[in-house]
Amino acid sequence: MKNYPLGLYIHIPYCIHKCGYCDFNSHPIKYDEMDKYVDALMLEMSHYAKIYSSNKIIRTIFLGGGTPTTLAAYQLERILKECHKKFNIESSAEITIEANPATIDLEQLKSIRQAGYNRISIGVQSFDKKELKLLDRAHGPTEIHSTVDRAREAGFDNLSLDLMFAVPNQSLSNWENNLRQALDKNPEHLSTYNLTIEQGTAFAKLQANGKLTMPDDEHQLELYKRTIELLTNKGFHHYEISNFARPEKQSKHNITYWKNTNTLGLGAGASSYMNGTRFKNVNLPAHYIRHIIDKQTAVEHSETLEPRQAMGETIMLGLRLLKGINIDEFEKRFHISFKNIFGNIISTLKEQELVTVEGDYLRLSKKGLFLADSVILEFI
Ligand code: SF4
Repeated sequence: MKNYPLGLYIHIPYCIHKCGYCDFNSHPIKYDEMDKYVDALMLEMSHYAKIYSSNKIIRTIFLGGGTPTTLAAYQLERILKECHKKFNIESSAEITIEANPATIDLEQLKSIRQAGYNRISIGVQSFDKKELKLLDRAHGPTEIHSTVDRAREAGFDNLSLDLMFAVPNQSLSNWENNLRQALDKNPEHLSTYNLTIEQGTAFAKLQANGKLTMPDDEHQLELYKRTIELLTNKGFHHYEISNFARPEKQSKHNITYWKNTNTLGLGAGASSYMNGTRFKNVNLPAHYIRHIIDKQTAVEHSETLEPRQAMGETIMLGLRLLKGINIDEFEKRFHISFKNIFGNIISTLKEQELVTVEGDYLRLSKKGLFLADSVILEFI
């Protein structure tokens, strides 16, 4: 994958509070550990820079979590400075930081903007007080407004908001109200995810005890269809199943991920996909720090994918993009004939009007978009 850009993902695993639905690798803040965590990131960066920096240009950096803004501004500045020192980063690189309302003030936002972070993704989830409480979020609507306004004041002109739909008891008009309030903040990008109950979360226990009832599939689909209608009418480009952007404002980093090209993940629990090999770091921040100090890496699991598996995953991720998969590019990447391997599956899905092939692109049809999970599984 010589010609593909390399994306750099850095995981900051700390949160001020564990949300009830969360199955991300997030842990309580430990102030006495966080400097050591940043030190460990520096060491891990040095290790991988020796392997990858000479021939790889980095076009995107993404600090995700957890809540990256639980780190102090000086720690976030230090991380970015070290990235520039260790890797070959394009001058126009997209450098995103995730932030949660109530975890960042104006001074901190100004400092990180000045340090070079040029895109901010804010975890809003809902503008509704009751929904935020139900979602077990640590902030209310007031903090959302102040965080978005401060981010603008600090100079972030590329701003994304995350919203969550299919929250229990959410009516269509509740959801429309959320979307309208989000649009009032003039974001360049919106991610809208439906709430799913993941095993091992507090929500999974509530559901098992009959204390949490999720909306039925029909209502979820109604909310999703309305999302597409409302946001596209307001000029947003629906470019991925759950993502919408103003022109030229798609998340370049996430596109790297959906194209299943090289991404190097640093930090506790971070996953990487490099040249057909997938590897993942240990989850616990303290274990991560110890592994890095001892041997400069913290990989707990590594797997080189068989070609058929890599192709299946590339289709699975690529079909999430509304543009679809470029068949010609795919054939060159895997040195195969697309028709020979996937011809039968595609014919069946075409007969069912779930996918289309136009020019060089295989993509989900409108009907296929609403049944995306089951269509995508056909290729695995
Ligand atoms: S803020 Fe995000 S990462 Fe942290 S606990 Fe909540 S959902 Fe999980």
